[in-house]
Amino acid sequence: MDKARALLSSYAKKIVQNGLVAGPGGNLSIRTGEWMLISPSGFDLAEIDPSQWCAVDIASGRTDAGSLKPSSELLLHLQVYRTRLNVQAIVHTHPIHCIALGLVSRELPVLFPDQAALLGEAGFVDYVIPTTQVLADAVAEKAASADTLLLGNHGLVTLGTNLREAYYRTEVAEASARIFLLSSIIGTPKQLSAEEVRDIQALSSEAYRVSFVQNQS
Ligand SMILES: [Zn+2]
Repeated sequence: MDKARALLSSYAKKIVQNGLVAGPGGNLSIRTGEWMLISPSGFDLAEIDPSQWCAVDIASGRTDAGSLKPSSELLLHLQVYRTRLNVQAIVHTHPIHCIALGLVSRELPVLFPDQAALLGEAGFVDYVIPTTQVLADAVAEKAASADTLLLGNHGLVTLGTNLREAYYRTEVAEASARIFLLSSIIGTPKQLSAEEVRDIQALSSEAYRVSFVQNQS
């Protein structure tokens, strides 16, 4: 559990350093057996000490006695862990380019090989008021078929079989949105076709990259 707490604090810092949230927004968690560890409410992600991650029972939603108050998006994390049993980590951020894209489009086109290998098709969740069970249910429903979800007028949720994978999905999704928006200024971006995406996903080097991400923690 100590290793998990240190890992969470290090990725929380990375999220802030890489500009994936503005101000004190965003939250992240990992599953640890029947429990999850989630960021406390009201903290700048870069300032969470390993001891301050909140332990919450996934089945009941009960916060461990002595824990700080969990993130206001607690319900979203709970609902995804309850319905996607292979998900071990969740990262929720407010990346500028993902939000900008989501204001005008429901799609994040697949543009380059790392995106095809690590994200595939991203899902889209229409705007729902944050922190509610309605948002938690809407995210869990779309999470049945995608590990990367744009939240309209809000941000991004990425899921992973470990925290490293969930985090990289956030980075690559934001890079993809940025590249798409930049190229849209000067023309119509060429997207990879479904066949090109399938070919990339079948490449042994990309398979290696994905398994590398999944096997590190
Ligand atoms: Zn949010």
